[in-house]
Amino acid sequence: MPELPEVEQVRRGIEPILLGQKVVAVRVLRSDYLEPAGADTRQIVGTCCVKTHRHGKRLFCEFSAGVTVRFHLGMSGRIYAANYGEPLSPHTHFVMQLQSGRELRMSDPRRFGGIALYASFAQGVAAEITGKVGVDALYLKTADLAAWRSFKSSVKMRLLSQREVAGLGNIYVDEALWQAGIHPLTPVCRIAPAQLIVLAAAVKKLLRRSITMGGTTLRDYHNVQRQPGRFAQMLQVYGRAGQPCRRCGSELKGIRVCARATVFCPQCQPRHKGRRS
Ligand SMILES: [Zn+2]
Repeated sequence: MPELPEVEQVRRGIEPILLGQKVVAVRVLRSDYLEPAGADTRQIVGTCCVKTHRHGKRLFCEFSAGVTVRFHLGMSGRIYAANYGEPLSPHTHFVMQLQSGRELRMSDPRRFGGIALYASFAQGVAAEITGKVGVDALYLKTADLAAWRSFKSSVKMRLLSQREVAGLGNIYVDEALWQAGIHPLTPVCRIAPAQLIVLAAAVKKLLRRSITMGGTTLRDYHNVQRQPGRFAQMLQVYGRAGQPCRRCGSELKGIRVCARATVFCPQCQPRHKGRRS
């Protein structure tokens, strides 16, 4: 499932294709892939994309008339570039034709993703970000962590929930907890403030490294040019249950947290490490 680095790759990839290019036509091939029902995509025809924004896993494209399109990749969504007339990839639900002769298309076999249309970027933020998801994980600050001390739920659950920090999924949460030496089931309130700072730093470092390597491709994710990311080779724990920890050599354990496969090192991430005392 695409997480923050993969969506950021898509944002960076579409900018050179989309910015300043007049939209000639929009085709929605599956009407239920677009929100709200009956949204009129003709509003962006004849306008240009002036800015792209990303918050967590959401990608917004703001057009010159103010109308903003929000893309969410879900589990298997892909935004890819093609030339006019090039055959559609299977499960393509959306096509935006540009004056340059290029098209931006979105495919999504499993359809957990989607596209939404808003009258303005501010309206999109109000509907999807404000009060719903936390700070973008790439810009997490120490000050943002102060409120975390009251949370009794497990750190993995909290990071996945998007409520305090947006953009993390199963891969980067497991990796960041291993980097910070925190057991995934540790209640957030039991993590010492200094260790929370270590965790926040680990999150940002991981995300930045993954972005520079094009993100992580396990199965579905490809960038706009249809190339896979190269960060999968850097993963230390994700998908490695039963294999030796690369830090201490202990066997990595697999458990389920929030119904998600979770891998950690019992030695480097002991259950009570980080208890506030
Ligand atoms: Zn270890």
